[in-house]
Amino acid sequence: MIYVSTRGQAPALDFEGVTLAGLAGDGGLYVPEAWPQFSHADIAAMAGLPYAQLAQRVMQPFVGDSLTPERLLELTTAAYGRFAHAAVTPLKQLDERQWLLELFHGPTLAFKDVALQLLGLLFEEFLARRDDHLTIVGATSGDTGSAAIDAVAGRAKVDIFMLHPQGRVSEVQRRQMTTVLASNVHNVAIDGSFDDAQATVKRMFNDAAVTGRFGIAAVNSINWARLMAQVVYYFAAALQLGAPHRKVAFAVPTGNFGDVFAGYVAAQMGLPIERLIVATNINDILHRALSSGDYSAGTVTPTAAPSMDIQVSSNFERLLFDAAGRDAGLVAAQMQTFETTRALQLTNAQRAAMARLFTSARVDADGMVAAQRWAFSACGEVIDPHTAIALQAARDEQGLPADVPVVTLATAHPAKFGDAVHAAIGQHPALPERMGDLLDRAERYDRLPGDYDTVRDYVTARATPRHA
Ligand SMILES: *Cc1c(COP(=O)(O)O)cnc(C)c1O
Repeated sequence: MIYVSTRGQAPALDFEGVTLAGLAGDGGLYVPEAWPQFSHADIAAMAGLPYAQLAQRVMQPFVGDSLTPERLLELTTAAYGRFAHAAVTPLKQLDERQWLLELFHGPTLAFKDVALQLLGLLFEEFLARRDDHLTIVGATSGDTGSAAIDAVAGRAKVDIFMLHPQGRVSEVQRRQMTTVLASNVHNVAIDGSFDDAQATVKRMFNDAAVTGRFGIAAVNSINWARLMAQVVYYFAAALQLGAPHRKVAFAVPTGNFGDVFAGYVAAQMGLPIERLIVATNINDILHRALSSGDYSAGTVTPTAAPSMDIQVSSNFERLLFDAAGRDAGLVAAQMQTFETTRALQLTNAQRAAMARLFTSARVDADGMVAAQRWAFSACGEVIDPHTAIALQAARDEQGLPADVPVVTLATAHPAKFGDAVHAAIGQHPALPERMGDLLDRAERYDRLPGDYDTVRDYVTARATPRHA
């Protein structure tokens, strides 16, 4: 499988190349040159497979010759063997129509584990082949940091430096990062805000003196391998609900548009998806883009669903590209406009292409609480704020055929957002047993002032240069 950039100017790469590359050299994102196709018979034959085997089947066309089927199955078995539920992503019924797909049974209780556990293994595999070294540098406001650290802790040829704003992540979130004591894990508390930490990281990616010596990499959701791993659970859920003979709709709590784009990919591969409902909170750039063609960034308003508090949704570029008939010149021009004016207009053709599969909804704090209360009182389910936003959108969705079930993606364990859950339903969700001693474990992290030179010197003094 060959991958091309959405902006058309970067060299094509194979799967191994895109996994290690992150962003394309022209500023675009890598996408497969063509969507692999599964027939109805291919999909029917996947029914009942254990998750790791299903993952191998769904991902193999994307991986191509970079891994043999046997090796890919070994990696999926190892990645998903670490999940606390035997079904990996269990599906729960709420009422006659509504279902929850629980994606939070991984080591850090967030759906990001599904992709990052596999990505950590892919890094190790490909770096060993090349005898190369990767230095992951990231800033986190909470969830991504712990999932990324857990995925690469103790792995050969990878170091991770994770910056979090001192005093501005919850104790559980901080401890999920700082109690990982592997020697390749470096946690840094920065004096300043998340945006300050993020700005420091961006500057390091553009510092030729650093990138010339070190293989600096990101683990955010622009990485193709992360998206690919998320395609699998759309198949898993739809198969349980009768695919390929019955269509299914999905409601997805959306931030960077990675998770819901994976659903779009599943549909392009032949999975019969009736509709993808993009749920946003009051930070609604994606709702405005999909409902009126106006993709324009405002300012971020903090909410109880922080992983959806975004104004720039990186993976949306991949949909812009596909919906424009893969016109890379058009997308490059649109993104250039966006980078200078913080706004772009979708073409009529893009809007029409998106409307064939997507609808969107903006759910405010009242809607979020209403969904949490309904799930608890009517179904006995405690759900987190992100999941609640999507569930409310799912329940409000109009015009779906009566026989189409709606699956809401449950992206975080409620205990990660215990205070918000308590405010909504008066219950404090307990941390799962396996996390029980988190508050007693030893922590290790360094605290640094936010200035760039100090952080750069800290990283370069500890990281391993390329081709070490
Ligand atoms: C990251 C995250 C999201 C948003 O997913 P995207 O792929 O960025 O759209 C939603 N919910 C939770 C809990 C998350 O951690």
